[in-house]
Amino acid sequence: GAHAQQLPAQQDRHPGFDVHAVRRDFPILSERIHGKQLIWLDNAATTHKPRQVIERIKYFYEHENSNIHRAAHVLAARATDAYEHAREVVRRFINAPDVNEVIFVRGTTEAINLVAKSWGGKHVGEGDEIIVSHLEHHANIVPWQQLAEARGAKLRVIPVDDEGQILLGEYRKLINDRTKIVAIGHVSNTLGTVVPVKEVVQIARQHGIVTLVDGAQSIAHTPVDVQDIGADFFVFSGHKIFAPTGIGVLWGRRSVLEDMPPWQGGGNMIADVTFEKTVFQPLPNTFEAGTGNIADAVGLGAALEYVERLGIENISRYEHALVDYGMQQLGQIPGLRLIGTVPGKASVLSFTLEGYTTDEVGKALNAEGIAVRTGHHCAQPILRRFGVETTVRPSLAFYNTFEEIDDLVRVVRRLAGQRR
Ligand code: PLP
Repeated sequence: GAHAQQLPAQQDRHPGFDVHAVRRDFPILSERIHGKQLIWLDNAATTHKPRQVIERIKYFYEHENSNIHRAAHVLAARATDAYEHAREVVRRFINAPDVNEVIFVRGTTEAINLVAKSWGGKHVGEGDEIIVSHLEHHANIVPWQQLAEARGAKLRVIPVDDEGQILLGEYRKLINDRTKIVAIGHVSNTLGTVVPVKEVVQIARQHGIVTLVDGAQSIAHTPVDVQDIGADFFVFSGHKIFAPTGIGVLWGRRSVLEDMPPWQGGGNMIADVTFEKTVFQPLPNTFEAGTGNIADAVGLGAALEYVERLGIENISRYEHALVDYGMQQLGQIPGLRLIGTVPGKASVLSFTLEGYTTDEVGKALNAEGIAVRTGHHCAQPILRRFGVETTVRPSLAFYNTFEEIDDLVRVVRRLAGQRR
């Protein structure tokens, strides 16, 4: 229509991806902020939910709501079917070999804590070493630090180069016979760096070291195949991939999960309880104590089915073009410093602007209806590596447009022009 003709030429280069049709699935994108159309560039913090997810959850509460697994009645069967269907959708989405390796948790943070407490509690001792990278989110630092402190183990850190990519040569040097686990982020939430996790995992496996991949920032932006990556654990949060908050996934290799003690104890995870001894349920229930977030797990299944229909390859191609365009446009603004410049980044643009605090830039953008995150992004070590405490962080999803990038750039350029 008339609107489409006003789009920048870049939009036309993606005829297979109808961003305006996609946007109509997301009710919140029609919100007006300070009289302006909302421009949501805070997708690394959380994503919006398509109607298909919102309606699926509503349907659950109107027609299927029950606790699962425990009753003879019809609604229990419906709720259990819906929940287990969602588990199968997760399995398919990440190409896990076995549906019982998919454990529902609250999110990435809970998944990593589960592994650190259960697997780490069993396998990490005095003098052992845990490897993470300088890029990690606090969620993939703090649980390992706590484990290391409790056990007298040591945290080792893979350094990054000046573009923001991990140094594989330095990583190889960190590995020794005390290394027990390598926990590595797939995509940096602060720089957008796509980390070569397959290579990181391969190197660890050659030494018999267990690996965990934090997929919080990759799951919505790049294809994920856990068998191809080859790690022992892959974790992500539903809310980063158009599903509700409070639901996430721990995928683990069966042989590794079966060698781990349960984390929390209670209902749903037991086969038989006496005061003398408890026999636990097999996977996945071993790690799903108590009543879980049933409706939101169902919502997660609907979100992944939605992404499957669009095609993660299509999404990834479109988003990479958006990111490259954003980097190129922002990079031309005088006084703007891009932080994280590895080619082929996913979703995240991070920058500082001379003469302004990041907070001031965030407020100026907010006044124009443009939502970005400013601050330390729960990843202080990597920002300090680049000599800053905070950045402005626009982060993209497939419902963003080239026009929105132009609007972002226009506001930042105006600020740069008014620099005191
Ligand atoms: N890891 C990375 C790379 C993240 O970006 C985030 C969220 O920002 C997390 C872990 C933590 O996710 P959640 O807060 O959903 O548990």
